[in-house]
Amino acid sequence: MSAAAWTETRQIPVEAEYDVCVVGGGVAGVAAALAAAREGAKTCLIEKEYALGGLATLGLIVIYLPLCDGRGRQVISGISEELLLAGLKYGPGNLPDCWKKGFDPAGRNKARYRTHYEAAPMMIALEELILDAGVTVLYDTRFAGVHKENGRITGVIVENKSGRIGIAAKAFVDATGDADVCFAAGEKTVSLDTNRRTGWYFSNGEKGVRLHGLTDPHFPLDGLPVPGSRFYAGDKHEDVTQHAIDGRRMIMEHVRMLRETEDPSAYPLLIPAYDGMRMTRRLSGAYTLDEKEVFTDFPDSIGLTGDWRKPGPVFAVPWRTIAGTENANIAAAGRCISVTTHMWDITRVIPTAAMTGQAAGTGAAMCARTGIAMSELPVKKLQDTLKANGMIIEKP
Ligand SMILES: Cc1cc2nc3c(=O)[nH]c(=O)nc-3n(C[C@H](O)[C@H](O)[C@H](O)COP(=O)(O)OP(=O)(O)OC[C@H]3O[C@@H](n4cnc5c(N)ncnc54)[C@H](O)[C@@H]3O)c2cc1C
Repeated sequence: MSAAAWTETRQIPVEAEYDVCVVGGGVAGVAAALAAAREGAKTCLIEKEYALGGLATLGLIVIYLPLCDGRGRQVISGISEELLLAGLKYGPGNLPDCWKKGFDPAGRNKARYRTHYEAAPMMIALEELILDAGVTVLYDTRFAGVHKENGRITGVIVENKSGRIGIAAKAFVDATGDADVCFAAGEKTVSLDTNRRTGWYFSNGEKGVRLHGLTDPHFPLDGLPVPGSRFYAGDKHEDVTQHAIDGRRMIMEHVRMLRETEDPSAYPLLIPAYDGMRMTRRLSGAYTLDEKEVFTDFPDSIGLTGDWRKPGPVFAVPWRTIAGTENANIAAAGRCISVTTHMWDITRVIPTAAMTGQAAGTGAAMCARTGIAMSELPVKKLQDTLKANGMIIEKP
């Protein structure tokens, strides 16, 4: 890194003013924007790519993990369930019949409420939902900084084809997956540099179109480093670039293996257009939820999640894992809420990311309407609104 530093002074035109500004259009950001707009907030959604869904579409992560606890009980509903069903509107899936409306619910304790879906139908359905809700979408628009006054974020600075512009709003949701906005706004954050190479991709050839979910095995493997692998940080640009390059190399290693072993005509049909890091940087909020707190009741629960890895555990997610503490008007959603590293593996998945998105968007709309700081919102009122909008927030 060069020792040089440049000072830049230029006026940034403020282009628009919203009640709620959601940064990041993955499933968490989509859920947050939908929730805020449906609460009557004038809402914008800022997304650096040209489509919605993030990892769940551009990243080719096409398995909507369970909305249930694995014991037959649904624990996530609301917008998260709406997005799962939206993903099946224009494309196929494998949702078990017992979880479909109008079918016999017998067997729900054996088959989990999850589905495979295809990325393109999901992408189109998410965009339709967002536009129908009256959300203003800004594609190809990258968050670059915040403008703050008196402990409140007054706007975000973004860059797009029009240059560097300001977007003013009364409340903000950080759904970047990497806590970019929280970090820039001075919230406490925690970073992990333990990401491994990933590469979910579709191959084609004699064996037809196939999805391969590649991830390096735990590193090191049996004490030996996996050839070509290392750990990567999601908040260091050199690592982000290298992770993308190494992921594609891993895909090509896999394609060569397919050609040698089972299908000489195999080739990569579709590779991720969004880098596949799991846990990068997150908010460190007033509360950090841990895996040990399974079955704990939190008075400020804003939603539940099961454990996608095994049946049984149900976690309540407190509002304090979402609300910012250093700024009055920011909430985190999705991959970057305040959870310990063990818990992160549970909350980072698509259904839970969307669930926290709905809570963050609803809270942001309340914050914008009342001016009350996110961390001081009347929790009972927030919970009542979430419940009225179909969310399950209390453990049985
Ligand atoms: C390899 C891998 C396998 C996985 N497998 C599964 C699985 O099988 N099932 C499952 O449910 N989950 C799985 N997950 C997890 C899941 O896909 C994600 O954690 C989840 O989709 C996160 O959603 P999100 O909206 O929080 O974040 P993201 O999907 O990361 O969305 C963030 C959005 O913000 C945008 N953005 C980021 N920074 C900026 C910026 N500065 N300015 C503007 N926009 C910005 C991005 O472009 C993106 O659209 C997997 C993840 C990985 C990496």
